[in-house]
Amino acid sequence: MNIRDFSQDLQKIYDEMGNTFSLYQKASGLSCLEGCGKCCTNPELEASVLEMFPLAVRLLDEGKLDEWLDKLESPTQDFCLMYEAHSGDGKLGRCGAYNERPSVCRMFGVSGYYDKHREITLSVCKLIREKYPDLTKTWESGVSEEKTPMLITWSYQMANLDPALIQNKLPINQALKGALERVALYALYQGES
Ligand code: SF4
Ligand code: SF4
Repeated sequence: MNIRDFSQDLQKIYDEMGNTFSLYQKASGLSCLEGCGKCCTNPELEASVLEMFPLAVRLLDEGKLDEWLDKLESPTQDFCLMYEAHSGDGKLGRCGAYNERPSVCRMFGVSGYYDKHREITLSVCKLIREKYPDLTKTWESGVSEEKTPMLITWSYQMANLDPALIQNKLPINQALKGALERVALYALYQGES
């Protein structure tokens, strides 16, 4: 696999995905809370190794590959190491990899999915739901495949690029470590390191 070409193709999907979900949040009024980064502190957040390639390539290009491999060898937090907390309790903060963040980070706030009865359902982050209870109910009742960005649509798009993008999910720090290791090998064979 040409990791650079692959990362560019994936980044195009990411950009479109990010815009789609963000526009829906703005249009619906179900926006994230100002400065919030609470979901980034969830240690159960997962991504596949391939999903982290765009970030790993960026770190390679910035000459930070070894630094990040060392950090990931003994992580100082059990949640995403790219998260930079701005408050003591960690609830406020920013993503240090916003442009290259994986799919889960783009779709978590508000998205449509099929529940176990195959009914279309709106998934809304608990904090957004608590802040906008009436709006949440309104958009829940109007959920549809045509109007709501669906998890499954974007999963298919990623699977079309490579099925491994949606398989074998790992805790996000482990996924980034795996991607950095693959990118380091790639750079070695390409004479880039
Ligand atoms: S990649 Fe960014 S948005 Fe995703 S969990 Fe990490 S800090 Fe949060
Ligand atoms: S999805 Fe929820 S927890 Fe995550 S940043 Fe938005 S409001 Fe905060």
